[in-house]
Amino acid sequence: MKRVHWLLADPYGYSILIYVGTWNQYRAHMLRHYAVDMGDQVNYGGEQSNIGNDTIEFSAIWLPRWDSKPWSIGTLSHELNHACFRLFKRIGTKVREGKKNEPFCYLQGQLLKRALETLDERW
Ligand SMILES: [Zn+2]
Repeated sequence: MKRVHWLLADPYGYSILIYVGTWNQYRAHMLRHYAVDMGDQVNYGGEQSNIGNDTIEFSAIWLPRWDSKPWSIGTLSHELNHACFRLFKRIGTKVREGKKNEPFCYLQGQLLKRALETLDERW
């Protein structure tokens, strides 16, 4: 399967990279393409990081594996939530209880759907 997947968070112009592979593969990829050293592995289930400098800003999600099963989907959803919080912080939108959290939930649902489409080659 493809290791690198990109999602665009419409309409915010914010991109999310999903990398599937070992931490060392992910670390090498980020160093080679973005000159970012992700450091030593801290988490084992998955991780979300904000990548940014003067010219580029995006969210990077590392998944150790993808098998379309509940554990993978749960981890993906967890990391996408982090990415959505980051995006909403960036655009200055607060996430609150009640109707105010509808934009967050729509975005997270849309991204999860698209991530499943790109990660799971059956669709
Ligand atoms: Zn977390």
